[in-house]
Amino acid sequence: MYDDIYENDDEVINAIVDDEGMASVQLVYTVAYVLISICLIAPPTEFVSAGLTVQNVLSNFLGSENMNFIYYHIRRTTATLLFHSILPLGYCLGLWVFVGINFVQLWSTSLYWQLFIITSILLPCCAALIALYWWRNKWANHPIAKLLQAHAPDGSTWQAVASAINIEFRRIDKFTTGAHGRRLIVTDSWVMNTATYSLYIAHQGDIHLMLDRTEDHPMYHESQTGAQFLNITVTSINQHVGSFTIRLNSMEYSDLKDKLQTQIRNARNIVIQQSLSDRFLEAFRLQVAENAAFHKPPIMDLESCIGCMQKTANVKLQKLCASPQEGSCVQCYCRPMWCLECMGKWFASRQNQQEPETWLSGRAPCPTCRAVFCMLDISMVT
Ligand SMILES: [Zn+2]
Ligand SMILES: [Zn+2]
Ligand SMILES: [Zn+2]
Repeated sequence: MYDDIYENDDEVINAIVDDEGMASVQLVYTVAYVLISICLIAPPTEFVSAGLTVQNVLSNFLGSENMNFIYYHIRRTTATLLFHSILPLGYCLGLWVFVGINFVQLWSTSLYWQLFIITSILLPCCAALIALYWWRNKWANHPIAKLLQAHAPDGSTWQAVASAINIEFRRIDKFTTGAHGRRLIVTDSWVMNTATYSLYIAHQGDIHLMLDRTEDHPMYHESQTGAQFLNITVTSINQHVGSFTIRLNSMEYSDLKDKLQTQIRNARNIVIQQSLSDRFLEAFRLQVAENAAFHKPPIMDLESCIGCMQKTANVKLQKLCASPQEGSCVQCYCRPMWCLECMGKWFASRQNQQEPETWLSGRAPCPTCRAVFCMLDISMVT
């Protein structure tokens, strides 16, 4: 083919040498472009912590997630779609700028390149048309808006549902977990999971949760030790709401359960690894249930626990492990001021954190009067 273009052998040799140089530059460029694209599409943890994500770059356009959660995700999914659609075209442009191969040269190379160029031009056009369709009518055609419309009671609009979700998202007691781009958010009445091009939303009152399977990671980079991940399928009785899978570390399982109104069914009896404090609290609870109860005099009023301010105080410390003069425990005369969970957490926090096996036989001072007690001295108030 060179014979048509070059007239003498020297030029042919130079062209071949040039071609080889160009091919290696093209290879380096291609590898770099693919790597950067992968990092932008599925950012590794290092990229996220450095703030190098599409969300951060476009933060001005996206607005504040905290102030307007639903609009933020409508804009985020649209921007992500547009951004991903221009990546192939960006590759062709970069080839021109950095390697010096323009579109005409590329076009004449092979049929595959012709297809690639056509696709890279068509993709952003299609994405722009989709985005335009979503945007029309104040985003009413966006999949998230349609999903919210499915949740709206008769006569109500998707905007009303959106503002209800926005308000709940602003509360600080929501449960969130998971990597950027695949985050699970549980508020008082909603279970939501973000995905690259969408946002899954289900109302807590409509859902069934089923623990599906677990993944065990013998070594997990964030914890230095092993980790277990749970995959839970969320199915809604609302026919317009598709089911989706949420994923979380088993250490967060009890926090998730606290935030949910429904039970998580574990039909396959999967064994869930609990965090150390959860395992301790379970043992603590069992021991306290075996101890003699404290019968509250009728005039005594139980106030809310001063640890969490949520539950009613339900435990009393009374020396039961030995007779009054024996042992190192001391009688506490405080009225019930703590709930079982908070007392358990307090007890665990006063133990040697390096030796969890000694916790059950340990001692702690009463949080109020400092009288020393052991686990046999804690009574449920009845
Ligand atoms: Zn409490
Ligand atoms: Zn006390
Ligand atoms: Zn004791």
